[in-house]
Amino acid sequence: MNQINKKLIYRFLGKINFNYNIGKRTWFGTGGKCLVFFEPSNIKQLFFFLKIIPKNFPFFIFGLGSNILFRDGRFNGAVIKLGEDFKKIELNKKKKIIKVGCGVKDIDLANFCLNNSISSFEFLVGIPGTLGGAIRMNSSCFNGCISDNLKSITVLNSKRELKKINKDEIKFNYREVKLPKDFIFLEAEFFVNFENKIKIKEKMQDIKNLRKKNQPLGVRTGGSTFKNPEQIKAWELIDKIGFRGKKYNNTLISEKHPNFFINMGNASSLELEILGEDIKNIVKDKTGIKLSWEIERVGNFEKF
Ligand SMILES: Cc1cc2nc3c(=O)[nH]c(=O)nc-3n(C[C@H](O)[C@H](O)[C@H](O)COP(=O)(O)OP(=O)(O)OC[C@H]3O[C@@H](n4cnc5c(N)ncnc54)[C@H](O)[C@@H]3O)c2cc1C
Repeated sequence: MNQINKKLIYRFLGKINFNYNIGKRTWFGTGGKCLVFFEPSNIKQLFFFLKIIPKNFPFFIFGLGSNILFRDGRFNGAVIKLGEDFKKIELNKKKKIIKVGCGVKDIDLANFCLNNSISSFEFLVGIPGTLGGAIRMNSSCFNGCISDNLKSITVLNSKRELKKINKDEIKFNYREVKLPKDFIFLEAEFFVNFENKIKIKEKMQDIKNLRKKNQPLGVRTGGSTFKNPEQIKAWELIDKIGFRGKKYNNTLISEKHPNFFINMGNASSLELEILGEDIKNIVKDKTGIKLSWEIERVGNFEKF
């Protein structure tokens, strides 16, 4: 914090917190503090913040923390969460395009599309993140994927360069987008198709029912811990090695979906991470298949 020009930064009072407990904002409910937590309401504030932070001061963009394991030590940098101006959705019916702020929650986008009879966004109903997180992770499920209808993304980088990038310039893979980590996604445009509202509603309900049947709901989890290898689902491998429904200290491996780890209340990020690494090793030993983390691990181990 000492390095930051405090005089200028305090213009943002109310939107900026120091030594902030970011762990409480993650879906796991675990993790330590960050030096700075900044929630810009608009692009001007974001520009200004990037201008005044010292060169190479690390920052991390936070959506809703549904794919994050924030480590228990302090993250010596800034966590940035997009605020009000980045939570807007605009429909241009004539051009058949929607413009969506990257701070919009997936569920709000799914409901906006339902209300406006727009199809192909139903899958977002059960993904507990924001559009920014969905683009970074190339989120998908139930035959829908965020990159499917994408037209362009507007990004800001750490040098404060604003760019609009068309989809054909971007490479998307399973759970990744090939764009630099310092890119802050601000808004995206999507092509839309109109469909009967009842059909859209039914599809959303089917997805909700399937989630209820196959995944633990209302618990502290990070969703799928590992990516699915090409030939088999990660949950099947964890099941094969006998970890389904097992409890280790404060962590439960879900009975319904063994790729979901659940914080039973007092788990630490370290405990969750060690369990994950342990499972990776056992799976490798017993099946020869190397699992890789889908959940992103951020920050430092040491407590302060
Ligand atoms: C119960 C549960 C179910 C889930 N089901 C699914 C599923 O079916 N399919 C699926 O794909 N995922 C699923 N997930 C994982 C997770 O919800 C997604 O990856 C989601 O897109 C993460 O969004 P977020 O906003 O929470 O991002 P975060 O978890 O906060 O961040 C994830 C990554 O996105 C980056 N990021 C966030 N916002 C921006 C931005 N504006 N600009 C640049 N980078 C940004 C972060 O820096 C980080 O690298 C599930 C998670 C849970 C807890």
